[in-house]
Amino acid sequence: MQQYLRIKAQHPDTLLFYRMGDFYELFFEDAERASRILDITLTTRGSSAGQPIKMAGVPFHALEPYLAKLVKLGESAVIAEQVLESAEAAKANKGPMERAVSRIVTPGTLTDAALLDDRADAPLLALQLNRGVLGLAWLNLANGDFHVVETEPESLLSHLERLRPAEALIPDSLKLPVLESRVAAIRRLADWQFDAKTAQELLTTHFGTHDLAGFGAEGLNVALAAAGALFDYARTTQRQALVHVTGLKVETEGDYLRLDAHTRRNLEITETLRGEPAPTLLSLLDLTQTSMGSRWLRHCLHHPLSNRVACRERHQAVADLLGDAGDGPMSAVAAALRPIADIERIATRIALRSVRPRELAALRESLGALEDVRAPLAHAGSALLARMNDDLATPVDVLLLLRAAIMEEPATLIREGGVIGKGYDTELDELRDIQNNCGEFLVALETRERERTGISTLKVEFNRVHGFYIEVTHANTDRVPEDYRRRQTMKNAERYITPELKAFEDKALSAQERALAREKLLYDALLEQLAPQVPRLQTIAHAIALLDGLNAFSQAAARYDYRIPELVDEATLEIVEGRHPVVERQVDDFISNDTRMAPTRRMLLVTGPNMGGKSTYMRQVALIVLLAHCGSFVPATRCRIGPVDAIFTRIGASDDLASGRSTFMVEMTEAAAILNGATERSLVLMDEIGRGTSTFDGMALAYSIARHLLDKNRSYALFSTHYFELTRLGQEYPECVNVHLGAIEHGHSIVFLHAVQDGPASQSYGIEVAALAGIPSAVVRDAKRRLRSLENREVVSGGQDDLFASLPEAEPSQVSHPALTQLAELDPDNMSPREAMEALYALRKTLNAQ
Ligand code: ADP
Repeated sequence: MQQYLRIKAQHPDTLLFYRMGDFYELFFEDAERASRILDITLTTRGSSAGQPIKMAGVPFHALEPYLAKLVKLGESAVIAEQVLESAEAAKANKGPMERAVSRIVTPGTLTDAALLDDRADAPLLALQLNRGVLGLAWLNLANGDFHVVETEPESLLSHLERLRPAEALIPDSLKLPVLESRVAAIRRLADWQFDAKTAQELLTTHFGTHDLAGFGAEGLNVALAAAGALFDYARTTQRQALVHVTGLKVETEGDYLRLDAHTRRNLEITETLRGEPAPTLLSLLDLTQTSMGSRWLRHCLHHPLSNRVACRERHQAVADLLGDAGDGPMSAVAAALRPIADIERIATRIALRSVRPRELAALRESLGALEDVRAPLAHAGSALLARMNDDLATPVDVLLLLRAAIMEEPATLIREGGVIGKGYDTELDELRDIQNNCGEFLVALETRERERTGISTLKVEFNRVHGFYIEVTHANTDRVPEDYRRRQTMKNAERYITPELKAFEDKALSAQERALAREKLLYDALLEQLAPQVPRLQTIAHAIALLDGLNAFSQAAARYDYRIPELVDEATLEIVEGRHPVVERQVDDFISNDTRMAPTRRMLLVTGPNMGGKSTYMRQVALIVLLAHCGSFVPATRCRIGPVDAIFTRIGASDDLASGRSTFMVEMTEAAAILNGATERSLVLMDEIGRGTSTFDGMALAYSIARHLLDKNRSYALFSTHYFELTRLGQEYPECVNVHLGAIEHGHSIVFLHAVQDGPASQSYGIEVAALAGIPSAVVRDAKRRLRSLENREVVSGGQDDLFASLPEAEPSQVSHPALTQLAELDPDNMSPREAMEALYALRKTLNAQ
């Protein structure tokens, strides 16, 4: 208990899993909390200060799933193991086994294969806010990527949305409500841990550099303060120097197209608005073969590149992989990538010395397969593919080392033995020989002893509990020689040992023990030898991820008929026959639409009925621009895109109850961010702004917002509205163009054309759509009459005051006219032309007769 309390005192806020024999036990409050969270039984053991001590535990072999559950809930755990002692020390030591913290598992510092999601990163983030500058540092411990950025506080949400940190560290005194609503695991550290000077020292020592200028991080004191606190925390959890973290990357705001948090969500890049993983842009395009590629793709779609040269390089690579007629090497590349293991994470675990034998075997197989991956790239013209081809050169020395050191199919754990290959170490081979010769020796001894004693049923055997023995049935025990010592009495037989057998037993058992120890030693030495190779393995991993990601773009292009986009220098946005990549997979006949925007055509005012396809059209433009900047081909026959710096969207209304804002407030906050941030090069999507308030308020706001966009922001804007009054803007501003999504009335119903046409919509069809949705026909009829009366009155008085005036009830005779009754009884589908003609005459006659 004393030992426990000593360790617990150092980790007061974290669940402590304390190894006792075959269990990890938790005590006191930890036990209560764990039993609740993990649904394990709460018991007691002994007592402390007269009170029974609460205890809960999990079997040692089942720890990982429990840890996985904890980190999913944003909890952390400290694992204290029994420290192995040498045999002599154990004998001398009468007290309890020594224990020490072996690792700290927190949601943002996972490196264990069992706890990590293959397809997504779970970075650790640290934040500091100082004099209006927000400093962010994030580390992906599973691959060693370490980044910092300094930015304005308002962009926090957008960064959280793209980085999706699993855990965040902040100074104790800092209040960031946005963070609290987004990240489950938040750890507050003392303010002094966020100190730029200490950080500088810590990081320069780690990287072995004089200063941080080489990383371009000099002077970024707010971000560095965060980086220092983060690095120290990560190092403590791993109890290791983080040798795989080999550099610091400074992100600048201009590296990527800006996408604010709403845009990331509204465009359903990696998650639908309902929070599901499909159907999204990622779920559609993820045709990757490796988890490295899949993670790259997820990251890529949230980080469209501003650098258009880099985008074009990717397009060229995708084109090469695809081939002119879809006959490029993409299928061969995919097939070659399929067997490649997660080299990136294995490299990390080598650096942290936590790699498992089977992972090294997988690494060996993957390195051995690199030439297959390179072969299809040999004749690629693209510069990017050529660079990947170079990066994928087989590290022959590492491969040979692994081939020599690791068995074909090694055991799961090094402590079980059976990991190090034959011929790698003479001493190990000798020790193993002794064990292998065991069988021969026993057979020889048995033959000899049978001859000596004349007992033909005598057997020489071995079992784990009792060791070696000679077994003789009771019937023959009177014939055993003098030197036999009884070891054990069985029901039918006696078991003996002889001095010769005892000597052999000692040798064999100690050989086994020594072999295990030798293997452990060799394994540790192997990891030491591999550690300096980690950067090379990381280079290979990056090349694989990029190749797999781009190859997925090629396959998507082939499968969905995407074409290469052109990134041009003139200010333009031209899309010919564009499609919405996700919606087109879900409807039978998707109608493609063109888009043309230029400085003389800055705003498209989109009108049309609800359900007409306005949102789909607007989003498709944003998605095509996004995809082009990720390096992908796009769902359009042709597309030319001038420089773009950001994509903003204001789409759909949703209450943000978590932060206590109403739908309308959310809508206006998003609009404010756009009006304050969008530039001439930004693409802005405004869908039905001003819906959440009264008609006049809403219309006035929508009108003013549109004008601000035209006058001040001068962005490329797609502005959809249900206020027809706004279509007037088309006359006021030559650069504002009216387009509409058409629909035609068909009988009492309405058919959406989904085709974008010039000019404003002629009517809104709101009531027809309501009818389609199943609003009772009486309500629909009443609404129609009110609308008609409203329209008539507007012509006369220009007012809408008496929309709700009680309208005269419909003339009863209108409904009960005999001609109508006659008409209602007709069944046109089952009439011949002649019968139809006759019915028509009959109707006319009834009408005349009235
Ligand atoms: P709005 O924003 O005008 O209310 P949406 O864009 O939400 O309409 O579109 C409504 C539905 O119409 C979509 O869910 C989709 O099924 C269908 N749709 C939209 N655009 C097209 C298109 N171009 N071709 C075919 N179907 C479409």
